[in-house]
Amino acid sequence: MVKDYNGIKKFKINIPKSVRMIIGILEQNGYEAFAVGGCVRDTILGRTPQDWDITTSALPHQVKELFHRTIDTGIQHGTVTVMLQRTGYEVTTYRIDGEYNDSRHPDSVEFTADLIEDLKRRDFTINAMAYNPEVGLVDAFDGMGDIEKKMIKCVGQPKERFTEDALRILRAVRFSAQLGFDIEEHTMEAMELLAQNLENISAERIHVELEKLIMSNHPDKLITAYHAGITKVILPEFDRMMECLQNTPYHMYNVGEHTIKVMENVPSTKVMRWAALLHDVGKPDSVTYDKKDPSRMHFYGHAHVGAEMAGPILRRLKLDNKTIKLVTRLVECHDDRPVSKGMEPVNVRKSVHKIGKDIYQQYLQLVYADFQGKSAYGKEKGYDGYLYEKEQFQYIAENHICTCKAELAVSGKDLIAAGCSTGSIIGDILKELLNRVLEQPELNDKKMLMDIARTMF
Ligand code: ATP
Ligand code: MG
Repeated sequence: MVKDYNGIKKFKINIPKSVRMIIGILEQNGYEAFAVGGCVRDTILGRTPQDWDITTSALPHQVKELFHRTIDTGIQHGTVTVMLQRTGYEVTTYRIDGEYNDSRHPDSVEFTADLIEDLKRRDFTINAMAYNPEVGLVDAFDGMGDIEKKMIKCVGQPKERFTEDALRILRAVRFSAQLGFDIEEHTMEAMELLAQNLENISAERIHVELEKLIMSNHPDKLITAYHAGITKVILPEFDRMMECLQNTPYHMYNVGEHTIKVMENVPSTKVMRWAALLHDVGKPDSVTYDKKDPSRMHFYGHAHVGAEMAGPILRRLKLDNKTIKLVTRLVECHDDRPVSKGMEPVNVRKSVHKIGKDIYQQYLQLVYADFQGKSAYGKEKGYDGYLYEKEQFQYIAENHICTCKAELAVSGKDLIAAGCSTGSIIGDILKELLNRVLEQPELNDKKMLMDIARTMF
């Protein structure tokens, strides 16, 4: 029989059948079990939970005895993953965290038979609610009240909780960004006081939270992280952006604020949000002042400087190589304006060649968002050019217009078969053929290109 823990019985939430089943099996065997944490919070908020976590009085080996397929996810912390129809459910034993001496991990964990003890160790009141169909909602720290107030508030004393695990400082901003909540005053004060401790947290854990923050509906909360002294520790490059003015007719914000606008205007994908965050990271190091009007700033070459910085920043934060490469390429090209010399199709074809067909759509998304973060003058200045590029790119994509060597109607093999000697000459000829095709797409025909090529053997 499950203790009632002052559960709010009339409170009913919809939980998936498999979760109900896992809870049921544990209960039939004399244990307590509840859905807990993020899944309860998100269901109350009408959001779809990422995953369903279960907390139980059963010990890990007891959980393992009851289910056919389990994985020892973090058995020393009490977590066993139960697999049901290819979905994993983390089942964790009620736990009390021991002393923390490194602002990261408890020195030890202790299992307990009391659900409330387990809820106490959780970070925020909205994450410390548990639900069981029979008992109802167990909400010992008024998570519901804070959901109504739209408030992120620590369970217990904020200073203690952030001293135990400094990652929670960043998590507070992350949840505030995902949910559009404010951070409660004392919680915020403690964050400001202890932000420096984030230096003890592994880059992997920072990466997870920072990425959730920038991919949320409120990437603007990065400014909260800046004011709290968080970015100073985890992304000092953002502080330099916030401190870099843009005295140019194109802009009305500092580089950091402009960056936020750009993040808000790109789709919420990993690559696009990181690219938006870093697109102008090279600006603080590229400032020059106009000779005629020294109050006016220029940022010549900032895209290249930024691309050189993006790799090391993203490697430091442990992003995967594929993402690092894409983001770096986008930063490098984001300020290219191929039609500034004229709205000619050939200029767009050359730009697609240079930037790459594979990322051109993403490049256009970044260019669009970049305008949205500029002054009315800045927006107006480039908008027509952007529309033209977008239209031309669509034409190129739909009509399979050749913009790279691989799309030429002849290959190196064709050249060799026609008697061309092997070696670097092949590459040179193909390069020349591509240049001509970029100028004149109708030349991309095997016979026509071979005729040209033969004059170069
Ligand atoms: P998401 O939807 O992003 O998964 P979540 O609330 O489920 O959000 P998780 O990081 O998956 O967040 O953690 C699950 C639960 O474990 C949290 O709701 C919270 O109760 C607890 N928790 C996680 N990390 C910490 C931490 N560093 N300190 C205290 N409690 C934590
Ligand atoms: Mg979760």
